[in-house]
Amino acid sequence: MSDRFYVNCALSVGDTELTGPEAHHLATVCRLRPGDHACLFNGDGREYPAQITAVGRHRVNLVVQESLAPQRELGTHLQVAAPLPKGDRAQFLVEKLTELGVTSFVPLLCARSVVHPREGKLDKLQRYVIEASKQCGRNVLLQVEPAEEWASYCRRGELPTIRVLAHPGGASHDRIGGTDAALAVGPEGGFSDEEVELARQVGWRVMDLGPRILRVETAALVLATLAAY
Ligand code: SAM
Repeated sequence: MSDRFYVNCALSVGDTELTGPEAHHLATVCRLRPGDHACLFNGDGREYPAQITAVGRHRVNLVVQESLAPQRELGTHLQVAAPLPKGDRAQFLVEKLTELGVTSFVPLLCARSVVHPREGKLDKLQRYVIEASKQCGRNVLLQVEPAEEWASYCRRGELPTIRVLAHPGGASHDRIGGTDAALAVGPEGGFSDEEVELARQVGWRVMDLGPRILRVETAALVLATLAAY
């Protein structure tokens, strides 16, 4: 696969240009030159093989040669909701959710949450999604949604029928793959009894993931993997 670069604009066959950090990455990090090939994507589900025609300090010119639609998405929509783990673990989480094909991520605010995303944090997470998509070949970006309180999130009207909350002591492993699903994980201190009860009342299944206590990001990845495959 050619090196992949993200552009935040419409793409079609013909001339286009790359600016900003992606142009820097192409020219300085990947050291591509006129005549080399690159693959562009903008999150519209397609990818655009292109040939480089000029490389400047802040701008790269390319000719898009074709528009392709390889199938790399899951056949279902998966939404993962979890409190942001601390530091680099939040980056790890969104990168791996992107690789697994998850559709969207909702940073949860729970009674025992310790991390409340500051302004700019969600943009940073979306940037990690783009980097992971460049690497794994996804042409549809995982959407990082605004942070939301558990009490309002779990009652959202448009959630799919399959809604699963991970909680130690819930029902043992249950099949959840092959259909649209909302998957929720609690904070380091766990969901409170009231939060679990509220979820049950509005139709969430409560699932145990085994006898060991997993970190937030591990539990989210286990749920996403079970639901994806
Ligand atoms: N002491 C907390 C408790 O008992 O809930 C542990 C919280 S754990 C670090 C963070 C989150 O990961 C939990 O709220 C839950 O959603 C999920 N989790 C971790 N291990 C789990 C397990 N074995 N079964 C189900 N969910 C688990």
